[in-house]
Amino acid sequence: MMEQYLALKREAKGSLLFYRMGDFFELFFDDAKVASDILDIALTARGEHDGEPVAMCGVPVHAAEGYLARLIKAGQRVAIAEQTETPDEAKARAKREGRPASKALVARDIVRFVTAGTLTEEALLEPRRANLLVALAEVRGTIGLAACDISTGLMVLEECSPQLLGATLARLGPSEVVVPENWEFGPEDPARHARSAFSSDAGAERLKSLHGVSTLDGFGEFSRAMLASAGGLIAYLGHVGRGELPFLLPPTAREQSRGMAMDEATRASLEILEATNGRRNGSLVATLDRCSTGAGSRLLAEDLSAPLLDQSGIENRLTLVQFWLERPIERANLRDALRALPDFGRALGRIVAGRGSPRDLGQVRDGLGEAARIHQWLVGEADRPTLLDMLLPELTGHGALVDQLARALVASPPTERSNGGFIAEGYDASLDELREMSGSARRAIAAMEARYRDETGISSLKIKHNGVLGYFIEVPSRHADSLMAPDSGFTHRQTMKGAVRFNSLTLHEEASRVSEAGGRAITAEEAHFEELTALVGAAREAIAATAAALARIDVSSGNAERASEGDWCKPTISNAGKLAISNGRHPVVEAALAREGERFVANDCTLQADDRLWLIGGPNMGGKSTFLRQNALIALMAQAGSYVPASEAHIGLVDRLFSRVGASDNLAKGRSTFMVEMVETAAILSQATAKSLVILDEVGRGTSTYDGLALAWAVVEAVHSKIECRCLFATHYHELSRLAESCPQLSLHHVRAREWKGDLVLLHELAEGPADRSYGLAVAKLAGVPAPVIKRAGQVLEKLEAARNETGGLAAGLGELPLFAAAAGEAAPEETREEALAKKLREADLDALTPRDALDLLYELKNSLD
Ligand code: ADP
Repeated sequence: MMEQYLALKREAKGSLLFYRMGDFFELFFDDAKVASDILDIALTARGEHDGEPVAMCGVPVHAAEGYLARLIKAGQRVAIAEQTETPDEAKARAKREGRPASKALVARDIVRFVTAGTLTEEALLEPRRANLLVALAEVRGTIGLAACDISTGLMVLEECSPQLLGATLARLGPSEVVVPENWEFGPEDPARHARSAFSSDAGAERLKSLHGVSTLDGFGEFSRAMLASAGGLIAYLGHVGRGELPFLLPPTAREQSRGMAMDEATRASLEILEATNGRRNGSLVATLDRCSTGAGSRLLAEDLSAPLLDQSGIENRLTLVQFWLERPIERANLRDALRALPDFGRALGRIVAGRGSPRDLGQVRDGLGEAARIHQWLVGEADRPTLLDMLLPELTGHGALVDQLARALVASPPTERSNGGFIAEGYDASLDELREMSGSARRAIAAMEARYRDETGISSLKIKHNGVLGYFIEVPSRHADSLMAPDSGFTHRQTMKGAVRFNSLTLHEEASRVSEAGGRAITAEEAHFEELTALVGAAREAIAATAAALARIDVSSGNAERASEGDWCKPTISNAGKLAISNGRHPVVEAALAREGERFVANDCTLQADDRLWLIGGPNMGGKSTFLRQNALIALMAQAGSYVPASEAHIGLVDRLFSRVGASDNLAKGRSTFMVEMVETAAILSQATAKSLVILDEVGRGTSTYDGLALAWAVVEAVHSKIECRCLFATHYHELSRLAESCPQLSLHHVRAREWKGDLVLLHELAEGPADRSYGLAVAKLAGVPAPVIKRAGQVLEKLEAARNETGGLAAGLGELPLFAAAAGEAAPEETREEALAKKLREADLDALTPRDALDLLYELKNSLD
């Protein structure tokens, strides 16, 4: 057995092997250790291999799905090895091959791989999230990405540079990534597949044969990198499905410039699909989502991940939202209708992948039927927006198929097809006859029970059925003797504790009629199932288009629902370099505050050509980060086609959105936090364009005060004078406010705070002008730092501030700094007295200074100036 196991394990490569033994899937060796750890099940040992006990654990077959889900979630892939013959067949085979039957080993084979990106099972999929598998390939310095969601058949090809791979993957958010062997680009821990499959020729051939076409021209234009990745994707799907390919729609090519670009750090910091804790709760999508269907929620997540950049596309979506907003009654009716829809896009995926059930067929029937009803109702509506007119034709055209499915299937078909019972009465006369036969035999058996009771006088006699014996007669032991007599007409079958079981000729005959007619009925139903599956498969593209159109309608009505709940406005979209928002709110923070019964303070933001960089100061906790993010989110939501939380909003299209938060405690991947911050800042400086929107929150915080201030200064100057894009920059460095003197398109703002009777009141209100002071001690007090410490800090601060007023403070000398444009690229000038002073300051380790030392240092610095 071990030999067979090890051979299968080699075939399973990096996957855990589920090895079927009777009613269990067993795992051995390291697999067992990994699985028992993740699943928290007992690890045992069985026999020896190479002198070592073999670690083992197992899960019952009937509960395997739940265990699989947990393993997949933990990042594992699983190969399922099933028994491909019965023990009797194995014995017969052994005999034929001249081996003792006692040593016969049941043949096993891997029937399927279960991986995160190739799930179709309803129980393993999250209803509100797309489940993407992405394959990567590289052709002459360009990365091709082939993405598919086999639960719905969607397939998109695109390409990017190696530098943008991280950002592109972040936008797609795949559940699983597959790469060629020896792949050197990210991400971490992908699945690997033979390199030869990732070639553009192989990819083109596979796509052509998959869709039965001689040229791919009809689908769009694909680069070699795209085709190579498609080749890898299809090969991997074939491997995982052991030769069976799942449902794939014809590929479409995504144009790079179509959407608003956002990198991984921006997505994470704006918490678009997931909050910082990795959950959907608290994310933008969760706050916005009022969709009635899982497919709608998935499309909304896609919209928010890839906001549009073309004005008419955005306006089409917005107009449809407006249409529903202005029709509350129709909207409510529509949402009721949508809520009743099954997720038939995913049912279709299972059917085409060969894993469909009668219930899936029923879902396709119900979904298409409902779509036709929605269509009929919507064509009667007046003043339909363009987008709705484009979607409507997709909703119909399935009349014949729906009709056939309706006639063929019972009202709610079961998920299990092997027991039959899903084909409706009246659909097939011969099936009805078979059912009638087995039904009459069943009735005859029931009648027989009464007759036997009479004949034998045993009132407790029963006719029962089980999987092993079939039908049998059972009497309590004390009555068994009379039936045991040779001429009784009964034959003994089994003696139990307290009961004895018998057979009789008549019972045997009727039972055979039941099982024969029943067996033939099941075969007939099976044939109908195949036929119906093929019909659905043939119409798969049109069915998928219907599901997609309904999802779009769902998103638009859900967005209208959300807009009416929050009193949101329809944004105006233009090509101007403007971002003007009146009474803007942060949707997630506002909702969180509302739950606590608190009110969110709305704020305006007006960035435009002559005033496009706002420097925002004010105390910690004053609302700076919230303000920054709300404006970025409003731009993002608008371009995704949603109304926005504001009373008025004018969004000049944003081509790239950047959001950075100064290093705090998110220690990533072994790099120091400051390093991460600088790498991310560098990315902005190299990629942002004049049409971008950049929000920078406390950049420079992760290093010493001087380094931090100097870097923040230089970054603001570069954004202002070189990139010339719209930017919101929050900082607690007062000194930066001097930038207003040299940067004409920069203005100063602050979040307001007041000290009232010694306590700090944060107003969360934005005002013009620099922050007057930092309120650091007041915030510390608010946070619960003990009073004596606050008092002492107050004394130190007083001294420091007095010294600052004498020396001109941290930024002394910056007034003489040449302008950014002039300074960039110039050779380093000779060291001035101020620079010498700055150098000394830079070298001072402030954290190690006592207040007394600090004072001494200040005196020394001042003296050096004299
Ligand atoms: P900062 O970046 O200035 O330290 P934050 O933006 O993190 O401050 O805000 C701190 C907290 O203040 C938030 O968690 C939120 O609860 C509250 N807050 C921020 N902005 C507002 C606002 N406009 N209205 C009401 N509460 C706000």
